[in-house]
Amino acid sequence: MTDKILVTRSSMPEYDEYIREIKDVWDSRWLTNMGPKHQQLQTELKKYLGVESIDLFTNGHMALELTLQALRLSGEVITTPFTFASTTHSIIRNGLEPVFCDIDPVTYTIDTNKIESLITDRTCAIMPVHVYGNICNVDDIDRIAKAHGLKVIYDAAHTFGETYCGKGIGSFGDVSCFSFHATKVFNSIEGGAACFKDEEFGKVLYSLKNFGITSPEDVDYIGSNAKMNEFCAAMGICNLRHVDEEIAKRRAVVERYNSNLSGIDGVKLNDVQPDVKSNYAYYPVVFDKKVFGADRDEVFVALSENNITARKYFYPLTNSFAAFGGKYDVNQTPVALDISSRVLTLPLYADLPLDDVDRICNIIVSCKK
Ligand SMILES: *Cc1c(COP(=O)(O)O)cnc(C)c1O
Repeated sequence: MTDKILVTRSSMPEYDEYIREIKDVWDSRWLTNMGPKHQQLQTELKKYLGVESIDLFTNGHMALELTLQALRLSGEVITTPFTFASTTHSIIRNGLEPVFCDIDPVTYTIDTNKIESLITDRTCAIMPVHVYGNICNVDDIDRIAKAHGLKVIYDAAHTFGETYCGKGIGSFGDVSCFSFHATKVFNSIEGGAACFKDEEFGKVLYSLKNFGITSPEDVDYIGSNAKMNEFCAAMGICNLRHVDEEIAKRRAVVERYNSNLSGIDGVKLNDVQPDVKSNYAYYPVVFDKKVFGADRDEVFVALSENNITARKYFYPLTNSFAAFGGKYDVNQTPVALDISSRVLTLPLYADLPLDDVDRICNIIVSCKK
């Protein structure tokens, strides 16, 4: 039996590189609370991502959740259900109401032609999600938000390091939030960041990640605790040194998948968008049973039987979660519902051997009827 292939494998520096990086942490005994590693990673990321301002968090979810709190929003937020639980939870945990917009069948991001019909006098913001490394139609979203006076908060968890027309993807909208979770293109073990331009907003956000403390004797907000610690920041510093190499290797894996799977009827692949520098975050494949003969679930099982873990991602849609007690109707987002039932993301990480890619593709092709 060959070794199990998981859907992803965390990027890590050499052991010695990390040990060297944490030496200062050991010596100083400054383990958290915006220490030197936190400051250094923040400065380096600001430059790498091409953003005006950035603040670091324990994880991407807290960046999203505290961003919504710092914006002091109330009412409805237009978003999509084709995302990870975090996006929708961040809205509801702030006492806001998600209004689910359908997605575009090509990029899987919010369908900007369907946003305006969902705007009411209670709408306060749009929370679109960049998906798999595909970016949203940021130009349309910007135009709609300006016309209706809405805030835009991007869930940019899938688009670390990407640019659109040469501009860092984190510089779009009022705020863009990244995740540095172990499974993402760039990781700090757990971690996240919010990128923004408004410095007043930034001050509130900064205090919210530290209990709402604004000075040694003042607590002005009902904050949380979401500070990135020094060991996570050190991992981020190390991984950032190698992230371009990692993305180049991911690209080679993606190109190998493309050359194996392109031209197979009933298997839709994901194209890199014009004017986008991609990070090759995920490899989604959408199956059309009528043409391919087998459906997504059959391919998933065939891969599992060969010790290969693909992921039904995003499935199920967030608007179907039991947590929300049937409050939302999945049929209002039919494209998202359809794609979520047919999509499979295949194993993808920098060191995935290309002959394993070939083997995965052969198994998929053998499912064709
Ligand atoms: C990973 C992810 C998040 C949450 O990030 P964490 O760092 O795991 O908290 C949010 N949204 C999307 C789309 C994600 O993929």
